[in-house]
This record gives sequence, C-alpha cells and structure tokens, in this order.
Amino acid sequence: MAASGHLSKQFFKTFRQFKTFVDGRHFSGTVRTYCSSGRDNSYDLIVIGGGSGGLACAKEAASFGKKVAVLDFVTPSTQGTKWGLGGTCVNVGCIPKKLMHQSALLGQAIKDAKSFGWNIPETSFSWETMAANIQGHVKSLNWGHRVQLKDKDVTYLNAKGSFLDDKTIEALDAKGRKTILKGDKIVIAVGGRPTIPDIPGAKEHVITSDDLFWLKKSPGKTLVVGASYVALECAGFLAGVGLDVTVMVRSIPLRGFDQEMANHVCAYMENHGVKFLYKCQPDHMKKIGTGQIAVQYRNGHNSDEEIEEDYFNTVLMATGRWPETKALCLQNTSVKIDSSTGKIIGGFNNDFEKTSADNIYAIGDILLDRPELTPVAIRAGKLLARRLFEVSHSQMDYASVGTTVFTPLEYGCVGLSEESALHKYGEDGIEVYHSYYKPLEFTVPQRDASQCYIKFICMREGPKKLVGLHYLGPNAGEVIQGFATAFRAGASMSTVMSTVGIHPTCAEEIVKLNITKRSGKDPQVTGC
Ligand code: FAD
Ligand code: NDP
Repeated sequence: MAASGHLSKQFFKTFRQFKTFVDGRHFSGTVRTYCSSGRDNSYDLIVIGGGSGGLACAKEAASFGKKVAVLDFVTPSTQGTKWGLGGTCVNVGCIPKKLMHQSALLGQAIKDAKSFGWNIPETSFSWETMAANIQGHVKSLNWGHRVQLKDKDVTYLNAKGSFLDDKTIEALDAKGRKTILKGDKIVIAVGGRPTIPDIPGAKEHVITSDDLFWLKKSPGKTLVVGASYVALECAGFLAGVGLDVTVMVRSIPLRGFDQEMANHVCAYMENHGVKFLYKCQPDHMKKIGTGQIAVQYRNGHNSDEEIEEDYFNTVLMATGRWPETKALCLQNTSVKIDSSTGKIIGGFNNDFEKTSADNIYAIGDILLDRPELTPVAIRAGKLLARRLFEVSHSQMDYASVGTTVFTPLEYGCVGLSEESALHKYGEDGIEVYHSYYKPLEFTVPQRDASQCYIKFICMREGPKKLVGLHYLGPNAGEVIQGFATAFRAGASMSTVMSTVGIHPTCAEEIVKLNITKRSGKDPQVTGC
C-alpha cells in the first residue's frame, strides 16, 4: 500500500475485499487501506479529470481495492455554460451529438416513411423538446457516474486540481475551499476545450460545442466556422432539423482523412441544403440591432481578399480544441509539455502514458499525438490502472483505431487514407478496390445515393493485406466497428472477399468489391 508510508500511528487500517477479471484471469483478495475518520488525504491514485479516460482509470484501480480519488471541475464556457460529471463525451461531445444526429436522421426517416405507405400528417420540429430530453438524459448519465464512483468507494471531489509538487495536489472547489491531497500515483486526464480564434467580436458573440448542446432555444440561422469532425457533424444535424446552415471552410474539409471521402461527405451535405463557403475566413463580428451577428469574412477566391458580409442568428466556432494544461501548474512538477500543442508528452520508460515525472501519467485527449476519441481514452485508462497496480503489463495499442464522422451521410474508416497509403507504399505497392452502391432503403423513397461509396485499400502483392477501409453510407459506425476487428486480425482482400455477405445490407457491398481503380472500370454496383 502506497499510502502507508505517509501515515502516522493515529491512522487505523480497514480491509477491503476485491474481485476482478482481467485479461481472462480472475483476481481477488483483501487489501489494507488506511483511514483517519475520513480525514486521510493520501491516496494510492489521484486522477485529475472525470471524463472518459479519468473515470475509466479510477474505477479500474478501485476494482483492485486501491484507494482512489477523482477530481473533476468544469470551468464555464465563454457563454457561461457548465455541466456535470463525465467530461466532454457525456456532456458536450459524443452523447448529445449522436442524439441530435439521431433527431436529424428521424426527420429524414419521416420523409422516407411516406413512400413506404405511412400517412404522415404535417410535422414540425421543436428544438426545445429535443434539447430538454437530451439534456435530461445527459443529467441522468452525470448522476450514474456519481453513483458508480460511490459504489466503488472512489472519493469524488468537484474541484479543480493543480500540482504543488509531483505528489501533492491542491483541490480548489467553486466556493474557494482548498483541500490538499497526496497521491502515490497521479493520472492527468483533463481533456481539452474548444478554441476561439482571436477575431474581433468572436469571444463575446460566438458559441462553441460547449454551448450548442445546452441551448434551450433553437440557434436559428447558423454559421459554422471550421471543417473538421465537430464542424461538419454539428452543421449536419442543425441542417437536418431544418435550420439554415452555412459552413465556412478555411482550407480543406476533414484534414487528415481520405480527401475523396471527405469531398463526398461535403457534396452530400451540400445536396441536402448545407451551404459551404470554401477558402473563407471570418475577419470581424458584431451584434446588430436585429440581434443577429454580422460576420465580415475574407473570401480567398477574390484575389484582393475582398471582405464580404452576411448575418446569422448564431455563429458556432468549431476551430479545434486546446488542452487544459494551464490550470494544472505543471511548472511545479517535472512533467514536460509540448510547446506547440500544449499537450503532455508521454512515452517515457517505454510506457506510452508515462510522463517525464516518475509517478505522473497522462491519458486521453491531453496526451500528445494520440487519437482524440472516447474509446481510446477509456481503453488507455483501464490498461494504465492495471499496469500501475501490476495486474497486467498490457500497453495501449493506438494504431489503426476505427472512427466515424456522424455527418448526414455517415463516414466510417479504419487504417490509412488513400493519400497516406500512396505515400507509404507508392502507386505500384497498393491496390484500391472501390464501388458506388445504392442502399436498399434509399430505393423506394428515391433518395439520392450518389455519394454512397466504399474504398478498400490493400497491398498489391501476396495475400493483399488490408491497409485502409473507408465507407460512406448508413450506419457507418456499426459497419466499421466489425471490420476494425478484421483489420486488427490482419484481414486481407482474400479473407474479406471469401466472407459470405449478409443480404440485403450495405456492409455486404464491402465483401462484394471487385473493381480496382487501376482497371478504370465503372465502379457502379447494379443489382444484387
Ligand atoms: P474529457 O472527457 O474532456 O474529460 C476531462 C475532464 O477533466 C473534464 O470534465 C474537465 O472539465 C475536467 N478538468 C479539466 N481540468 C481540470 C482540473 N484542473 N481539475 C479537475 N478537473 C479538470 N469521440 C468519439 O469517440 N466519438 C464521438 O462521436 C465523439 N464526438 C465528439 C463530439 C464533440 C462535439 C467533441 C468536442 C468531442 C467528441 N469526441 C468523440 C471526442 C471525445 O469526447 C474525447 O476524445 C473524450 O471525451 C476525451 O476524454 P478525456 O478523458 O481525455 O477528457
Ligand atoms: P480539428 O482540430 O480536427 O479541426 C479544426 C478545424 O477548424 C479545421 O477544419 C481547421 O481548418 C479549422 N480552423 C482552425 N482554426 C481556424 C481559424 N482560425 N479559422 C477558420 N478555421 C479554422 O478539431 P475538431 O474540434 O473538429 O475535432 C477535435 C477532435 O475531437 C477530433 O480530432 C476528434 O478526434 C474528436 N472528435 C471526434 C468525433 C467523432 O469521433 N465522431 C466528433 C467530434 C470530435 P484547417 O484544416 O484549415 O486547419
């Protein structure tokens, strides 16, 4: 027990039973913990940040009978929005986003339903109802997390943590009360927050994804600045619930993703009412008498960078995220951060999550050069807890993590983009199989399927090992989740092509691929 070294004789021991199942093995036993009528502030593990990664790590460590504390504190957004325990994913990320996306998909389903025989009376959409129900669900998740921490005997402090030294944390709550905690091991899992570029008027007038999901009233006509995951997903569901939406793209959409797929994502959105302003950047914003925001922007298509203007009820800044390291006072520790990104550098002593300080680790969005995805933070947190308390030695595998962008036509992928595969293996090294297909559910309502597209990138020689899979179509997350397992298992063109499809599905189009880009043949699927 790490804490024992710090404790004087007035502390007494308690015994905790634990049972757990890790890597196919059962672990159980009794551990000694020490307490002083609740006043002992020494812990085996202190986790700063109660989001996806932090909660997973804390709960896993507690399941081994360790004495664990979690600090979670939400600094209100620039517009004053705040939320409860659970971090970005639960409160201002994956969960409310996917539910709003679902609301938009239902709007499309209502339209389709008429062709399938449903006699649908005039429908209307209420942002107020959608938002209240989603916010209610999120609050239930906040509560669920609190209960789970309590059930697992994890001490939860709704307080902001900062380091006094490598082993000492100051926890400052909203009322200004300070608590000093000692941690044998400390995990930093503080995630990030949206950035707002330094544009006159922006800080006062724009909202970010930290506000959007908590709006009680519809944002109305919206300008979304940015063109990556957050921007395109939010623009997609806002348009899907009937709003007038414009996306302002500074350079390219979905930087880092396969650009052929990214362009299809945007083309589908454009065909479904989203306006795109390419090569444009906001320059100035101000509120006008009508309550709207006048946005002056530079249009890169004009050689003289002439300023143009338009008016919006809401401007959503989706221009990236910045790590929450500043408040941690890392200067009081030996933890090194990357000066250009502000993120924590890991990888010391051959451990991906170990920082340059002996007892301090970092997981999730705060860690340099790692995918900013919830399942990544959760898996890294659990594996770290197991290693910290010597239950297992498994390291996190950050390679080839599948992901999905929940745009109106969803885009899921795993592995390399075509650009990266070409760069890595050269044109002669890879084969690209592709196909445009029509989801069966699009046929009867005569929906446009011109962007439903699949691309399978494999090595050209030998068994044609899969190096990248890209899917645009319904339920992309569900489709790619399964193929991501095949990818990890080293799937090749021959294993995938010898898999019998499940008919009639969109995913079966993957196991039916047979046209290479190199052949120049028409990749349009016809018939079954
Ligand atoms: P977080 O979940 O951000 O948690 C960090 C917590 O620490 C926060 O509660 C923060 O307030 C708290 N904190 C910060 N500083 C301190 C401090 N000093 N003391 C105490 N507490 C502190 N990922 C997916 O996989 N799928 C998706 O569909 C998806 N959608 C997303 C949609 C949006 C709009 C956004 C913004 C993100 C989305 N993500 C998605 C990414 C995902 O939410 C993050 O990767 C994930 O939440 C990171 O978890 P984390 O534990 O690193 O940090
Ligand atoms: P990104 O950093 O991926 O993208 C930022 C976007 O903003 C880019 O399009 C960038 O353009 C643009 N931008 C930056 N600065 C400016 C500026 N001053 N003016 C105009 N445009 C600007 O951030 P996101 O917030 O979209 O996503 C963060 C992370 O969150 C993602 O990497 C992802 O891991 C995670 N996430 C995951 C989701 C999922 O799994 N479905 C959903 C949402 C988020 P440029 O390319 O020109 O730099």
